[in-house]
Amino acid sequence: MSILTNLFGATLRYAKFHRSQYWEPERLQAYRKDLLQKTLIAATRIPFYASRFEGTCDLKDFPGLPCLKRSEVSKLNQSVRSLYPPTASFPSDCSSGSTGMPIEVLFDASHQRGRYAARIRYLRQNGWSPLQRNAWIIYLPERTPDGYLIQSRARLASNFLSIFTDFAEQVAWLRRVDPLFLYTIPSNLEALLDLFEASGQRLPSLKRLFTGGEVLEDDLRSRAHRVLGVEVSDNYGTTEAFLAWECPEGSYHINSEHVLLEVVDEAGRPVAPGKTGKVLVTTLENYLMPLVRYEIGDYAVAAEENCPCGRNLPLLKSIVGRSINFFRLKDGRLVSPWELVVRLKYRPELRQFQIIQETVDRYELHFVAESPLTPESQAQLRRFFHEVLDSDVTVEFMPVEKIPRTPSGKFMTALSRLSDRPRSEQM
Ligand SMILES: [Zn+2]
Repeated sequence: MSILTNLFGATLRYAKFHRSQYWEPERLQAYRKDLLQKTLIAATRIPFYASRFEGTCDLKDFPGLPCLKRSEVSKLNQSVRSLYPPTASFPSDCSSGSTGMPIEVLFDASHQRGRYAARIRYLRQNGWSPLQRNAWIIYLPERTPDGYLIQSRARLASNFLSIFTDFAEQVAWLRRVDPLFLYTIPSNLEALLDLFEASGQRLPSLKRLFTGGEVLEDDLRSRAHRVLGVEVSDNYGTTEAFLAWECPEGSYHINSEHVLLEVVDEAGRPVAPGKTGKVLVTTLENYLMPLVRYEIGDYAVAAEENCPCGRNLPLLKSIVGRSINFFRLKDGRLVSPWELVVRLKYRPELRQFQIIQETVDRYELHFVAESPLTPESQAQLRRFFHEVLDSDVTVEFMPVEKIPRTPSGKFMTALSRLSDRPRSEQM
């Protein structure tokens, strides 16, 4: 499907999302129920789900359905593909890159449009315009639908730069572009703020910052306001689906016409409002490869109150997701561990992991194993460290039962003992 057809579809869907966010809660709920029913019917056509659900696709059984683990996604993927000729091609969230067997989620046109529409809604409702200069410093996907969109003329007034660009170069680029809107991930924003603060420079036209991909700390938000003089609108988006976004009042609204989010305890039961639990995602618009009660690997605090903005999309109080420190190399350079995190994220052997920099040349990879780490996979993982960091760093593999959280409840995906964050935050 061409990008323009897709964008046209996304624009129509956005027009609908623009209205549906204000629907009465009962109407939204009924709409969501219909989509969930449709999703479950689509799921039971896939052999993988048919055997797990024992044929049933009744809505009342939904809360008891087994959770889908990350490690099961490739099995689900193969099961979906088995229904089509081997030559069939589908849009997906990741190309088969250098990461070995990736976790690949297949999208159908409907999901793709919903994903774009939900993203447009988040941006537009926070004042963004595609026709005004805007800058994106992100992980640039290549052979994916998002990658094609970025390279196409449909990007209009958007300018893109890879997140792996040297920070001083990023600042110089931003000064040239002079954007009205800037989108990046929080750890990158933090590095940029260091430079802007040190030089006393600002971006004269900047109206708003947008962030996503990692947890945005409150202190980073207030620092951005102090240094660049603008507010931040954050989102909770993943490659699998666009989950939730911050409205101008500062609440995180769930894209409930696109996904169903559950916040559950270890037994899979919903937690009470105000309590932290695991996030389960059910896609509501992907009938090709639906994700049903998918454990996305983040935690969130449940909420039930209404937002003063008048939107009736349900809320999350906060997201307790992944957070990172930068790593310091021997020559003093600070590097983002992001490229390494992205590569490890798609390793099927690792259910959960944490990269710890112990000294300038010694790292530990703490991981909850999905399957045993063979000498080949160890060698591959070591190569990733050498490619992204220095070629002579040592890596120790440490299987653990569980990755601990910081005292404030955060998960540090990448943690540096050399970081200047308070020590108490690093345990
Ligand atoms: Zn709101």
